[in-house]
Amino acid sequence: MNVNQSAPPVPPFGQPQPVYPGYHQSSYGGQPGPTAPHIPYGAYNGPVPGYQQTPPQGVSRAPPSSGPPPASTAQAACGQAAYAQLGQGDVQNGPSSTVQMQRLPGSQPFGSPLAPVVSQPAVLQPYGPPPTSAQVTAQLAGMQISGAAAPAPPPSGLGYGPPTSLASASGSFPNSGLYGSYPQGQAPPLSQTQGHPGVQPPQRSALPLASSFTPPSSGGPRMPSMTGPLLPGQGFGGPPVSQPNHVSSPPPQALPPGTQMTGAPGPPPPMHSPQQPGYQLQQNGSFGPARGPQPNYGSPYPGAPAFGSQPGPPQPLPPKRLDPDAIPSPQLNELPPQQKTRHRIDPDAIPSPIQVIEDDRNNRGSEPFVTGVRGQVPPLVTTNFLVKDQGNASPRYIRCTSYNIPCTSDMAKQAQVPLAAVIKPLARLPPEEASPYVVDHGESGPLRCNRCKAYMCPFMQFVEGGRRFQCCFCSCVNDVPPQYFQHLDHTGKRVDAYDRPELSLGSYEFLATVDYCKNNKFPSPPAFIFMIDVSYNAIRTGLVRLLCEELKSLLDFLPREGGAEESAVRVGFVTYNKVLHFYNVKSSLAQPQMMVVSDVADVFVPLLDGFLVNVNESRAVITSLLDQIPEMFADTRETETVFAPVIQAGMEALKAAECAGKLFLFHTSLPIAEAPGKLKNRDDRKLINTDKEKTLFQPQTGAYQTLAKECVAQGCCVDLFLFPNQYVDVATLSVVPQLTGGSVYKYACFQAENDQERFLSDLRRDVQKVVGFDAVMRVRTSTGIRAVDFFGAFYMSNTTDVELAGLDGDKTVTVEFKHDDRLNEESGALLQCALLYTSCAGQRRLRIHNLALNCCTQLADLYRNCETDTLINYMAKFAYRGVLNSPVKTVRDSLITQCAQILACYRKNCASPSSAGQLILPECMKLLPVYLNCVLKSDVLQPGAEVTTDDRAYVRQLVTSMDVAETNVFFYPRLLPLTKSPIESTTEPPAVRASEERLSSGDIYLLENGLNLFLWVGASVQQGVVQSLFSVASFSQITSGLSVLPVLDNPLSKKVRGLIDSLRAQRSRYMKLIVVKQEDKLEMLFKHFLVEDKSLSGGASYVDFLCHMHKEIRQLLS
Ligand SMILES: [Zn+2]
Repeated sequence: MNVNQSAPPVPPFGQPQPVYPGYHQSSYGGQPGPTAPHIPYGAYNGPVPGYQQTPPQGVSRAPPSSGPPPASTAQAACGQAAYAQLGQGDVQNGPSSTVQMQRLPGSQPFGSPLAPVVSQPAVLQPYGPPPTSAQVTAQLAGMQISGAAAPAPPPSGLGYGPPTSLASASGSFPNSGLYGSYPQGQAPPLSQTQGHPGVQPPQRSALPLASSFTPPSSGGPRMPSMTGPLLPGQGFGGPPVSQPNHVSSPPPQALPPGTQMTGAPGPPPPMHSPQQPGYQLQQNGSFGPARGPQPNYGSPYPGAPAFGSQPGPPQPLPPKRLDPDAIPSPQLNELPPQQKTRHRIDPDAIPSPIQVIEDDRNNRGSEPFVTGVRGQVPPLVTTNFLVKDQGNASPRYIRCTSYNIPCTSDMAKQAQVPLAAVIKPLARLPPEEASPYVVDHGESGPLRCNRCKAYMCPFMQFVEGGRRFQCCFCSCVNDVPPQYFQHLDHTGKRVDAYDRPELSLGSYEFLATVDYCKNNKFPSPPAFIFMIDVSYNAIRTGLVRLLCEELKSLLDFLPREGGAEESAVRVGFVTYNKVLHFYNVKSSLAQPQMMVVSDVADVFVPLLDGFLVNVNESRAVITSLLDQIPEMFADTRETETVFAPVIQAGMEALKAAECAGKLFLFHTSLPIAEAPGKLKNRDDRKLINTDKEKTLFQPQTGAYQTLAKECVAQGCCVDLFLFPNQYVDVATLSVVPQLTGGSVYKYACFQAENDQERFLSDLRRDVQKVVGFDAVMRVRTSTGIRAVDFFGAFYMSNTTDVELAGLDGDKTVTVEFKHDDRLNEESGALLQCALLYTSCAGQRRLRIHNLALNCCTQLADLYRNCETDTLINYMAKFAYRGVLNSPVKTVRDSLITQCAQILACYRKNCASPSSAGQLILPECMKLLPVYLNCVLKSDVLQPGAEVTTDDRAYVRQLVTSMDVAETNVFFYPRLLPLTKSPIESTTEPPAVRASEERLSSGDIYLLENGLNLFLWVGASVQQGVVQSLFSVASFSQITSGLSVLPVLDNPLSKKVRGLIDSLRAQRSRYMKLIVVKQEDKLEMLFKHFLVEDKSLSGGASYVDFLCHMHKEIRQLLS
């Protein structure tokens, strides 16, 4: 039986499938990507580097249409080798061409050359009074992120000058002009510093590493890094603080007395000969790995080679000590005590998100991510990369907090690292990547394990000559049905493995049989019902007129699939205030007919025929209706609205039509009219910071949950567009959208003229996006772990099935796993996510995603295969759910405790013994503190005075469905300087850290977090720039709060507007621009997003939080 054999749109395997027409390619985020040629399944016929559970030993077969199979036995064997290496949780001491790109090892040294070593134990008292900041700075400066510091202390006496003097040194640095314009994938200009030792700040010139190891007298703490961004290579960390136009910075961070932060002992000196140029790259005090090529490693992934250790061959590692930082450094105790000068903590000495993002882009953005190897950590979400499916699901579909799971629950409990996967089953793909193939097994349906019901996948093992297969999830041995039988090659692999997506790919779809359909009946195509509030407020703001006008054209863009000429989706219309109006728009009518339902206590659908129609057939009647609606209600005095009956009516209409579908609700006010689901204004800001604060997030009536449950049963998804002028109780109104997999959009104080671009852009995207309906998602796991908790917009009536009335390509479900048995290093762990859904053409399908993870018996392996962005996604969702039941302070405290436990466990079990004064962070988690602090001080967990209860409920609801890229930028906004890079540069300017200290009053910045977009204008920005962008003569003439830039014909204006468009295209919601002038009132709003700074609502600065975290860790360790 061939996959191409029968049935609907099943293009030949091996050829690109049509993409969904409704899919906006432009909205796929990311930076301009590598222009890798699109080869659908290019690697498919090629060597398959060991993705099978049993490593391939035989000949790979090409798809029938292709040429002779290129994969040789040798190649397969090569893959096997790679597999074996990774599969055993082993560590590789050096480059290996067979190994897929590995995340930087947990033991990767950071900032090695400069990491100081102290001989005296110190006490960190971050919140103590008098600042001996020198010590803290020193400690922070020396903080060993990866735990692998290679101490390269500068010559004594150097580098202890005050920041300003060093800053001026940096100002004179010849390369500083290059700052901000690195070509991607190349070594930063910093590397040129080798050629200009004289220009460097003194400490830098003292960098040769070997020397730094030998003379104890030279082993001072790493003071240079305290002085701010000194070197061009550090440019991504922000503009040099010494710039004349530097904005006043917050008060210096004081270092409490006795505080010392020291570098950890590093690996033995032989690894760092002074001739190793690669280390020069790290001299800037940043905590990231070197950006350029590292010694002894020629690969484009500078960070990669040192997996588990330093790359240098002569490295005398004890066999069991995998971490360089675990190697005692003989120098440790020979070094002199730190100088006790006072310094403020240098923000550049603590891990920089910008640096980490930039390093990953440079290291991993140029090559495709091939999913053939188990347990590979993918590039960061901020890196633009292509994916080649070779047996595991793309990270666009599934990202994990760790790709190496502890074998036992004891280990997992010890580490406290949450084991979770963020799954986006219908994720949109970039145009270069093919959508999952649809496999049709005819009447017999998809092949499954008889016991655990897992679907056929590449990890199933065929035995007994191919007559049976052993389930990779539950080990049950199943018969292969005759029609599916195929011979095995001498390696035990089916000879048709590469002809079948389900035997060779991580993601694919099955056509579902009637057994997978409700009532054993194939579904009808879904319907969209537009339900429009026509009360006084909706009319007055211009909403109704705007919406009706837009719908006339938007209805031509309903989602289609498979190259269909027109959408199968039918549409219907309802308007409402205190009563409901249904419309008959049957094509045979000359004019639409209105039917009023005034009994809102028990709504019924007054018509079936003519309510849900095909757009093209009824176009004239629909257009007439949309023309009439604004007129009909133009003079309305009705201010009261109902809400629950509207949803009820829409759901009943879908039920009557026996189809799934989506309701688009456009609603303006708190539903106070007498009806089910009537609400009262219960907003009470006095509850904030009390035990009753949680009630603000809870729905005020259970009626909406009940309603949502009915909607889910019907496959009725609700998207809610809110246009409130005051409190509308988002916490309650969003219950149904939340439980039905829908979306909520909120436009406070909407005025058509000001907000139409944002609203219409969101609406267009929302209506056009591909949605799966009436969906059930199930996550199966191999023996030893199981899915125990779920976060997202869905409903669950049992403990395993995630029910989604609708699921679109933006929504994620975060799943947490727990152990229920011991895992095995050799077999690893498997996840299979199966999503049963009805496509927008009405086809019932199953989408399958498989992912194999490694398992480890050493905690170090866990820590070096974690992904902090995904951890933060999970932790934010966990915390945001927690506020429903616990006081916000409790939620915050437990986050801090968990983070401290994670880091303390690393310190205790994976890092080398070192002074208690050191803060040691695992390389993969060095951003955990800064990101966690952003979660802690977010509006939900620590609201400022200007944040409304509705805002908090809204954000809480949004974050629940966010993917990893969205949470990343939402919690740590992107801040882009606009005039630093050359005007002709077409790439996005390198971001700077989100802190006021990074703002230069002579520059202009864009800040975005996926929801908000600001253009900040410095007070001393050049007049020419002001003229070019705003068409006014001076700074003072710029209108504060402006939301549209004038369209001017000059390079700067074009560039900035182009950049704004590109940022918007990357996000799932339109970001309205707000122009903010320095020292203007609106600036307070903007500063709220400078998340590294102390916030007005009391949120800690990054530096303070890091100190606090250090204290917590020390308490746990002592
Ligand atoms: Zn099974």
